[in-house]
Amino acid sequence: MTKEAYCQKQATPLHTREGQGGGSLINEHFLNLSSNYLFADIAKKVKAFKAVHPEADIISLGIGDVTQPLCPAVIEALHKATDEMATKSSFRGYGPEQGYDFLREAIVRHDFLSRGIDIDTDEIFVSDGAKSDTGNFQEILAKDCIIAVTDPVYPVYVDSNIMSGRKIVYLPCTVENSLAPEFPKEHVDVIYLCYPNNPTGTTLTKEQLKPWVDYALQNNALILYDAAYEAYIQHADVPHSIYEIEGARKVAVEFHSYSKTAGFTGIRCGYTVVPKEVKSEEASMKDLSLNKLWNRRQCTKFNGASYLSQRAAEAIYTPDGREQVKATIGYYMQNAYMMKETLSGIGFQIYGGDDAPYQWVRTPDGLSSWQFFEQMLTEAHVVCTPGVGFGPSGEGYVRLTAFGQRERTEEALNRIKSIF
Ligand SMILES: *Cc1c(COP(=O)(O)O)cnc(C)c1O
Repeated sequence: MTKEAYCQKQATPLHTREGQGGGSLINEHFLNLSSNYLFADIAKKVKAFKAVHPEADIISLGIGDVTQPLCPAVIEALHKATDEMATKSSFRGYGPEQGYDFLREAIVRHDFLSRGIDIDTDEIFVSDGAKSDTGNFQEILAKDCIIAVTDPVYPVYVDSNIMSGRKIVYLPCTVENSLAPEFPKEHVDVIYLCYPNNPTGTTLTKEQLKPWVDYALQNNALILYDAAYEAYIQHADVPHSIYEIEGARKVAVEFHSYSKTAGFTGIRCGYTVVPKEVKSEEASMKDLSLNKLWNRRQCTKFNGASYLSQRAAEAIYTPDGREQVKATIGYYMQNAYMMKETLSGIGFQIYGGDDAPYQWVRTPDGLSSWQFFEQMLTEAHVVCTPGVGFGPSGEGYVRLTAFGQRERTEEALNRIKSIF
């Protein structure tokens, strides 16, 4: 159906209310979203295969969620916080929209001061996770901002800006540039960077990230830096925070999440750093900083992450919590290491996976992402994620994840080895 036909079909009953001007009721920018059926399409194909081969033992190397349970320090904190809620004297209702100080102070101390980075507690905004914050942050930016994203990309950055009607510029990440984006060829106002990257699992070293901060400073651009996989970094030259780069406090906002760090995908907690220096030129004249705007936005639309999840997050920073979280990440990274050893050993071209739970695998023999997906499913009974689902430059790749159980991951690798 053409866009016009769709509008007519959908909008006629909504906006023909007489005497009210006749404008459309819905936000028509939503019609410009491409239907992202990636994971639904995968599920459908797996289901169809299972129907014909009910005996097949299918293993997924496509899981984008953690599988290991919460660590004991977090469980203990959750129990304690629950008990507090049961007593009148320690019960908590609404908390501060920006997060409790106990958590904001722990964040500043452990995630920033310990790395020599100066961040104030009022630059930390605790949230229910990085998906909402990376999706919502564009609300405080001008409607006509031009947005740059790397390609392939985490779809949230693209779709949230399309919903607001903004223009998107893709920065292709391919073998030719070793999956590291090049500067945009036209002016852009906002650049989303996610490192370690989902889906490619690659990183930028401090040396590679610095030119982006300089670029933003010179071109009056804002960097929205997604550090959701920061805890997976193993190498010393890979920055855990963009604020390790000089000048970044003036041009970058940074998103963190406890989802992949500590298995909080179901608990829900994360935070966003908005330094007070970040402002656009025109906003400086009006004394408007992004920190003030984001604070205003959150106070209006968000009532804080739950007390329980914030106590749970605080527990990650205790000595026990830190050790336990590190052990779980070590488990996933051991999977990643095994995957890389085995697959590169049989001739696959693999990117990422050294500082991230994701590996970006070139399909063999020039197969398309979906053709290789089919081959893996039908011959090895292994599920992977077609790279083309993350953007046009993802064609010819698949994403593998290290979030599986050890034994199942080993079994999947043995099967792949026996085919190729
Ligand atoms: C998983 C993930 C997040 C975290 O999302 P939450 O809402 O905190 O669970 C953020 N960014 C990227 C790129 C991710 O893959």
